Amino acid sequence: MATIKQNLARSAGLEGSDSARLDTELLLAHCVGRDRTWLYTWPEYELAQAEQRAFDTLFERRENGEPVAHLLGEREFWSLPLKVDASTLIPRPETELLVETALEFCPAEKLRALDLGTGTGAIALALASERPGWQVLAAEKSAQAAALAEENRRALGLDNVQVLQSDWFAQIAPQEFELIVSNPPYIDAEDPHLDEGDVRFEPRSALVADRGGLADIERIARKSRRYLKTGGWLMLEHGWQQAEAVRGILAAAGFKRIESRRDLSGWERLTLGRHK
Ligand code: GLN
Repeated sequence: MATIKQNLARSAGLEGSDSARLDTELLLAHCVGRDRTWLYTWPEYELAQAEQRAFDTLFERRENGEPVAHLLGEREFWSLPLKVDASTLIPRPETELLVETALEFCPAEKLRALDLGTGTGAIALALASERPGWQVLAAEKSAQAAALAEENRRALGLDNVQVLQSDWFAQIAPQEFELIVSNPPYIDAEDPHLDEGDVRFEPRSALVADRGGLADIERIARKSRRYLKTGGWLMLEHGWQQAEAVRGILAAAGFKRIESRRDLSGWERLTLGRHK
């Protein structure tokens, strides 16, 4: 059996992860049932046999590439703990830009918002947690992912979110929203990054779109205006090289006040437009 400190030192062997130390801390903290700071308070703690065995198993799976969020079954987004499984995209920190921008552009206390392709429910639940007076509809095509989003909604006690199984707008009754947000699939099927790292374990349907990654963005832009109130906003996350194309798509769909926003790495990661 090894100590906390000795187990943490194994992070050096975690090649292929760009967050080896953090990954090791998260897995180790999980196996001893404590938080990450505890690890640094008790570096000489010797793991019990069951704890050590659990850690060895998870660490080996991480070495084989499985995402930490899948190994823990959980990922934090906007400080909300969310259950994650292989049916959805793992929430990414850069997507918090979408939440921030929506809150900035929509100060209203009461508002109806739609999150298309909600996955774990991350964006919808973050918005609903910040704005208890909003009604948020979270649409998701995959039955398994919709069930997961509903489980997350219930665990967080957010009664102002409704999860609906729907392929984009297909099951959404005619109605008007002040805000439509989406982090749709936008990666080109030929992108070599799809064969590297954590994305290999995520569903292709959440990552890849036709027409160089732009097909779903086009579909959403075209249909959104019918579901937006006058003055309502559409906000879409997209790839770091797609901002210009997405601005063009929104312009062609008749949106006004179109602009893109940069994420923390400086990439134009989000484009928005207003319905009139
Ligand atoms: N940002 C993610 C990635 O590059 C993709 C997310 C998406 O397709 N919506 O891995």
